[in-house]
Amino acid sequence: MNPTHCCICRRRLEDFASKEQGFGRTCGERYLSAQGTPDVEAAVGLIVAADWPLEQIHALVASRNDVTALTQAVTYWASCNYEDKNAVIACAKVLYACGRTHLATKLVADRVRVHVTCHKVTVMVHTTGGHSNEFAIDAKRLPSSDRTMASNGQTRYWVFDLVRKDQVLVLLGHWFPDEPFLMQEEGLSDLRVLPRTPRVDVEQILDPGFVGKQVGLEDAGGTYVVLRNTFHGTFTKELKATIPDDKRRWDVARKAWHIDRGFLPAVKNLVLRHFGVVL
Ligand SMILES: [Zn+2]
Repeated sequence: MNPTHCCICRRRLEDFASKEQGFGRTCGERYLSAQGTPDVEAAVGLIVAADWPLEQIHALVASRNDVTALTQAVTYWASCNYEDKNAVIACAKVLYACGRTHLATKLVADRVRVHVTCHKVTVMVHTTGGHSNEFAIDAKRLPSSDRTMASNGQTRYWVFDLVRKDQVLVLLGHWFPDEPFLMQEEGLSDLRVLPRTPRVDVEQILDPGFVGKQVGLEDAGGTYVVLRNTFHGTFTKELKATIPDDKRRWDVARKAWHIDRGFLPAVKNLVLRHFGVVL
């Protein structure tokens, strides 16, 4: 397999040198600078886990001792697959681990439908295609004081107050489930996957009474303790995984968990990790 197009700008590659590399000279100059510290073990882990032909995986892993050769091989492979979004995103993850953060971010930014950028007091969200309209309808249910639309010329994007970040991610996870998205935080780019969020969780976080992450424990001294917390998807998931079915009960009327006292240490540990609160 030989690359015919630049993996970055997707223009046809003309000269031999560009075809050898998998990108054109202009793109190379613009995006090939290494920015991060290479973590070759992480890169190899990603290659091994990728959904690529076995001989390709072997060929890439074979250049693990030379990070420059490895990044070249991965960029070449990205160019061979320049039209295959998932393959290029998988390559970008490897390039990111190899320290080529600039190139990786560019490859991903052009191919994902969801971009999230966190600033000091705001979260900017840009979505294209898919369920962007449905996302917008839900987003408009957030208090109008905490959201607005902005534009940088061609692109329109959402600006949310930073306190809405978790809610916005829940909404995105509902409308773009299991999708890779570009997260930029404190100047760092990261490729993450949106967790699939059920509608019932979306309704909970869009409830006007929702007040950010809060958690509290009532201990009346009986066989169980009562835990109240505002919606937190991963917390709930881990709580359910940690505490057996017959040791917990969701009290619909009080919107609280009843949990067997024997699991109190486990609950405290989960709350500390997810809410940063010592109960
Ligand atoms: Zn190019």
